[in-house]
Parts: sequence; C-alpha cells; structure tokens
Amino acid sequence: MGNNKVTSNLESLKALSEAARCAEEYISGIREQRVSPSSLELAELERLNSSLPNKGQDAQQVIADLHHYASPATVASTGGRYFGLVVGGSTPAAMGASILNAAWDQVAVLESSAPSAIYLERIAAQWLLQLLELPEESSVGFTTGSSMANMVCLAAARNRQYERMDIDLARTGLAGAPPLRIVVSAESHVTVHKALSILGIGKDQLVKAPCDNQGRVRVDTFPELDETTIVCLQAGNVNSGHFDPFKEIIPMARAAGAWVHVDGAFGLWAAASPKQRHLTAGVALADSWAVDGHKWLNTPYDCGVAICSEAQMVHRVMTTQAPYLQAGVQVPPKDMVPEFSRRARGVEVWAAIQEMGSEGVAALVERCCGFARQFADGLAKLGFEILNEVVLNQVVASINDESALQQIVRIVQEEGVCWFGTTVWQGRVALRLSVSSWATSAEDIALSLDSIRRAMEQVLEAK
Ligand SMILES: *Cc1c(COP(=O)(O)O)cnc(C)c1O
Repeated sequence: MGNNKVTSNLESLKALSEAARCAEEYISGIREQRVSPSSLELAELERLNSSLPNKGQDAQQVIADLHHYASPATVASTGGRYFGLVVGGSTPAAMGASILNAAWDQVAVLESSAPSAIYLERIAAQWLLQLLELPEESSVGFTTGSSMANMVCLAAARNRQYERMDIDLARTGLAGAPPLRIVVSAESHVTVHKALSILGIGKDQLVKAPCDNQGRVRVDTFPELDETTIVCLQAGNVNSGHFDPFKEIIPMARAAGAWVHVDGAFGLWAAASPKQRHLTAGVALADSWAVDGHKWLNTPYDCGVAICSEAQMVHRVMTTQAPYLQAGVQVPPKDMVPEFSRRARGVEVWAAIQEMGSEGVAALVERCCGFARQFADGLAKLGFEILNEVVLNQVVASINDESALQQIVRIVQEEGVCWFGTTVWQGRVALRLSVSSWATSAEDIALSLDSIRRAMEQVLEAK
C-alpha cells in the first residue's frame, strides 16, 4: 500500500503537470487559433482512434497525445470570437477552480461526502439569489444546465399543482390523473418542451401563448389560467434576447392559482446589471427559475441552476432516503436535483463570483450588451437589416438574398476569424450572433465585422 501510494501520487502529479503545460500552451494560443478547426485538424483526430487498447499507456503520454491531436480540433470558444449558440468562456478563477475541483474529486451528495464543496455550493447559492434578486428562501440546485434546471422546476410545479387536487403523484403516479393545463410561450425554448415531455406532458397538451415580433408573449391574447395551470415564460429569447412582460403576466397568473416558471438560461443575468435590470422587472414574483452558470456567468461546462421559491416542493420531488444516508442539518444536494452522485458545480460558481464581485458580473453583462450593439451598428453599415431590437446580447440580421446570406456565413465560418450560425426569425433566414464571453473585446467585434465584410464582397462580386 505504502509503495503503491507513492507511485500513484507521482503518476498523478506527472499527468497533472503535463495537463497544466498543455492547457497553458492551449490558452496562450487561443486568440490566434482558428475559431472552428480546419478539415485537416479534424482529420487528425483519427490518430486518437486506435483499436481498443489491450495494454495501458503512461498517463503523461495519454495527456500529451490528447493535447497534440484534440486541442487543435476544439472550437476556440474561450478565445472571444465565438458567437454561436449562447456560449460563455471560462473566467480565470472559475477555470482554475475547476482544475482544483477535479483534483479533489468530491462526490457532492451529502455534507459527509464533500464538506467543503457543499459548503461552497451553499454560499454560491446565496450569492446567486442576491445577484439575480430572487427570494432568499428559495431552493437552489446545481444541475448540468438549464435543460435539467427546467425539468427540476417543472417537476416541482407539476407535483404541486396535483397536490392541490389531493393527488400525491409520488404515490399514485401520473396514470389516471386528470391533465394539467400547460401554457407555454409560442417561443418557448426546445428544452422546455423536452422537460415537459420527460415529465409526462405531451405536445397536444400544450396551450401556446401567441408572441409579438420580438418573441414576447402578448398580454392581450394570453390564454386563460386556473389553479391547474403551469405557465412557462422566458427571460431572454434564444434569437432576439427579448423578455416576456413579467410584470403584467405573473401577478395575473398567480392570482388564478397558476404556477409560473421562467426559463432564464442566459437572460436572467440581466437582473445582475443595474442598466439591464429593467428587462426582468417583476420576474421575482414567479415560482421557479432556470438559469445557467456556463452561459453568461462564464463558469466552465457544465453548470445550470434550478431555483424554486417553494423549497420544500423541490425537496419532496427529489428526495432520496436510505439508512446509509445520514441526514445533515440542511437539505443535501441529492434532494434538490435529479443526480445522486454528482460533481460540485457550485464550486466554480463560487470562484467566478468571488473573482468578479457583483460589480464585475454587472460589467460583464453590460459589456456583452454593448458589443451586441456594436455588431448591430456595424452590420447595418454593411447593408444588413437588423431584425430584432438589440436589448441584450443577441443580434439577428439578414439581407434580402437568402442564398447570398448562407454563402456569407459559410465563408466567414471557413475563414476562421470568428464563428456564428444562422437561424430562422419571424419567417426569415438570418445570421444569429450571441455575445456572452468575458474574453470578448471591442477589437474582436471589429475583426469579426471585417471578416463579414470580406465575405460579403466576395459573394456580391461573384454575382
Ligand atoms: C441554452 C438554453 C437552454 C438550455 O440550457 P442548457 O444549459 O443548454 O441545458 C434553455 N433555454 C434557453 C433560453 C437557452 O438559451
């Protein structure tokens, strides 16, 4: 045992220092690396695909090979010029904490299994509620992302609405239960639909609330509500970045006995900024919220947060009990999220907030919003039509010629200076930009606009 201990520690140290060396090389070159890999770099991945190895290999060599072949074929999303999906980078302290967290390798089930990690998650939870201005007694569960956070919150919503009908779902199950009324925004994110479907609520059961041309639900045509209703609103439309009118809808829904859930994967972070907070006015009156760490807070993947004002409801749905699981004083993570064994994702949340402070988080949000406006102005000068009101970090823009637009986007992606994709917004094919990274600078936006201009000239000259 003694000798084995020495060897295993030594091997770990060698692998770790090799990983640190490789990561350092990767990070120091990230701003020069193509944002999406070339076909050659992708082809090189083959070198990692041997037949199933019979014999093991030296850990240090495993890391070196990983870096050599896989690092060049990554998307340089931490470099500041990746504008696809909604993707944050990883702040320095959050990335460092993630490495330390890996070294700890804690199973964050119970206080006894991960004391410091769970302690940090509790602090991070309190800080999150303060930053987002949400009720302080809420339960806060750290999930893999907003998909799972939506599911946790909607599971609590579903069971609560059934409890009101004297149906204990945990005992009886869904079979035979009368259907709930599920009102979703016509613009709800696909993961809300997935969460509902996993929870036994099908597409035919959904009542869609019509939206305006910014993707906000309309108050005047909002569907009827009652005490069997769950309402799904959103903070931050995945295309336009816009917000539902919480101040009008939520009090009305709550008065009717409905449960209101808000999918705020990235948009809820507007609440952390004095300049953007007006967009989330009234959101704190909802019953539950899903938000991501890995998007706008710029913690590493993966990290979402399920927040529920009726903490006991989440605990009732997620609880697990067995004689070998000694209860602590507070509700353990295993009773706030679906996972039992889990990584303490809140550690990186703690580190990012400790590093930035509330002022730094506000500045990050405001900086990204400013860059989105810079993008929109630049695109308008190039002759694009901006299809959304740029109220947050999202820009949707188009030109009249759809095939030319597709060509422009493809040329930009191939050039590798920046990366973004296309979407369909209000029936029109458009390019879609999301500015969500702490690493993005004004120069990155200028370089990206140059790349778009070059692609545009190339496409229009060829006509
Ligand atoms: C990204 C996103 C989700 C899903 O979140 P994940 O963290 O990817 O699981 C849900 N809703 C909105 C609005 C999003 O932008």
